[in-house]
Amino acid sequence: MSGRPEPLFPLFASLETLEGVGPKTAKLLEQTGVEAPRDVLFSLPYAVVDRTRRDTIKGAELPVTLTVTVTVGVHRAPSRRGAAYRVHVEDAQADFQLVFFHAHDQYLRNILPGGTKRVVSGKLELFDGMAQMVHPDYILPLEEAGDIPEFEPVYHRTQGVTQKTMYKAVQSTLARVPELDEWIDPGQLKQQKWPGWGDAVRVAHAPQGLDDISADAPARARLAYDELMAHQLTLALARRREKKARGIASKGDGRLQSKVLKTLPYKPTDAQARAIEEIAADMANPDRMNRLLQGDVGSGKTLVAFMALLVAVEAGGQGVMMAPTEILARQHLQGLRPLAEGAGVVLEILTGRDKGGEREAKLAALARGDIQILVGTHAVFQKGVEFKDLRLAVVDEQHRFGVRQRMELAEKGQGADVLVMTATPIPRSLALAQYGDMDVSVLDEKPPGRKPIKTAVISTDKIDDVVGHLRRAIGEGRQCYWVCPLVEESETMDLTAAEDRFKRLRSVLGEGVVGLVHGQMPPADKDAAMAAFQAGKTSVLVATTVIEVGVDVPNATIMVIERAETFGLAQLHQLRGRVGRGEAQSTCLLMYQAPVTEGGRKRLEVLRKTEDGFVIAETDLQMRGAGDLIGTAQSGLPVFRIADLERQAPLMAVAQSDARALLATDPELTSKRGRAARVLLWLMRQDRAIRLISVG
Ligand code: ADP
Ligand code: MG
Repeated sequence: MSGRPEPLFPLFASLETLEGVGPKTAKLLEQTGVEAPRDVLFSLPYAVVDRTRRDTIKGAELPVTLTVTVTVGVHRAPSRRGAAYRVHVEDAQADFQLVFFHAHDQYLRNILPGGTKRVVSGKLELFDGMAQMVHPDYILPLEEAGDIPEFEPVYHRTQGVTQKTMYKAVQSTLARVPELDEWIDPGQLKQQKWPGWGDAVRVAHAPQGLDDISADAPARARLAYDELMAHQLTLALARRREKKARGIASKGDGRLQSKVLKTLPYKPTDAQARAIEEIAADMANPDRMNRLLQGDVGSGKTLVAFMALLVAVEAGGQGVMMAPTEILARQHLQGLRPLAEGAGVVLEILTGRDKGGEREAKLAALARGDIQILVGTHAVFQKGVEFKDLRLAVVDEQHRFGVRQRMELAEKGQGADVLVMTATPIPRSLALAQYGDMDVSVLDEKPPGRKPIKTAVISTDKIDDVVGHLRRAIGEGRQCYWVCPLVEESETMDLTAAEDRFKRLRSVLGEGVVGLVHGQMPPADKDAAMAAFQAGKTSVLVATTVIEVGVDVPNATIMVIERAETFGLAQLHQLRGRVGRGEAQSTCLLMYQAPVTEGGRKRLEVLRKTEDGFVIAETDLQMRGAGDLIGTAQSGLPVFRIADLERQAPLMAVAQSDARALLATDPELTSKRGRAARVLLWLMRQDRAIRLISVG
């Protein structure tokens, strides 16, 4: 199917084809992302006004919006400019006033002739003991009163577009809604008691009360599911394409792995062993691997990745691991090179800092296959970087990269298997939205012997106590991170804060004891500062959040975070995860400056109470909302108009299995239901998926 199906044409026509929508309104709507009748259709009302007719206002609890038949009485024009124009009206049992400001007298006399009956609808309120309705929403003669909807949906306001215009546009869209074949599994539809698509949109726009506005209302739930289903179909199609794309079977013989494992001072945890096995099995398979390794901070993802890279080498090929920052790439080099050397494997680093002849030499060695494992930053996938035989690409801490980059990476890696690692525990619904196309391994167990981190929340006033505590700890040979506040997203300000703190701590704790690292330091200085801390030459590392991701210094047991109340939950969790990695008891001191916002207080409280990354992530999702959590723009996380990832998480899981099941039985989407699903993809603007079908 190369083009949009014909039944959908009216929904993708120009907005101006809708009743009451002219060029001006169309433009206003477009500014909010409403570009076609289809988008009008998916802009569901968020409230409903009860305009059921009543005989009298008597007994109504004011203020309230009501609709009543009245007899028009005397008009009282304002005595001075700017005062109200009042019209006295009477219903069956009571009287009140209609009130207008800046109105034309003649116009009012025309629509409200004395002695006639009118139906008026609007908000009735008490003012100076008198019931009044200011600027009624409707004033109609009895014979036209049928135009007032009994229950009127209320739409989100677009600047300059009135409710009435929006209502009309919706009605005019509903009038052209085509009947579409069902794409939802009949069993699912029946079990949930969902209406068909056409009925669902009609019902969703005609709420009869508050229940119909709730996300659980069958019509709304169905439309939400459609969105999730379309998204999951896209992911499932991408997944199938990746799998189909000719992969490389990389079978290891365990020779290098066992050499490395012998030199390690510890044994892999069961979770690590399981993940290593799952990955090796995927790699041995000729299908292309597309796997996510999820594990909380400190769960030991690096070892799993390294074991996988060794499989690539054992199979006679090469592997690459990309880290999001220079610091992390260097850390991988330091941690992994000795292990690699011990096993006779050549491991090199490539980052943006490699220039000129040295870079050329590395590239040549890589192309010859003399470098077997490459670690680095984005630079490892730049133009000109050619592998002899790339088998595996590992992306570390990928939440920093986003979905799009992941797809690009998969394309660059040719047939190479892809392993993505994420440290941020993501609530299941988000994980499904973001990684629904991947298989998942989870490290749900931390290396043994870790003691829980003691977390305390302390006022900045007590900074002297904190420094005193530090001095004692340093005396006992322990190390400490000191994270400086984020100031207004301004890096220069961050910098000043960090530099000030550095100077002050240095003057208290002594020269040479305190190091400083921040994003704007010359690269070589950054390395030197990190290396000095890693080697234990400095005891305190003052830092901006550059250390947030992945840095690993097991001897560091104290984490001080200044102005912790200004950080996000996930970020605080990541930062805290820098300690608690060794055998010794670790402490995290969250310093706040009063007054703290409600949200800030709650975040610190959650952190103090739990170390469980999943609990923290769920809380974060609830507090912030899905889009915010990962930063929708960078993450490539889809924007759903109707579905609510926070509240409809279970639906996402159903949509995933449903989408995968449909493709399993009907891979080309040619059955009746399959063809309906194609229409769904068009309806949901999933162009990417449509291209995947045509290619696949
Ligand atoms: P993350 O999952 O956050 O990337 P790392 O891979 O950096 O975690 O590992 C954290 C620390 O745990 C490192 O110091 C690593 O050497 C250590 N480690 C990893 N696996 C084990 C294990 N099975 N037993 C003991 N320590 C381990
Ligand atoms: Mg890591």
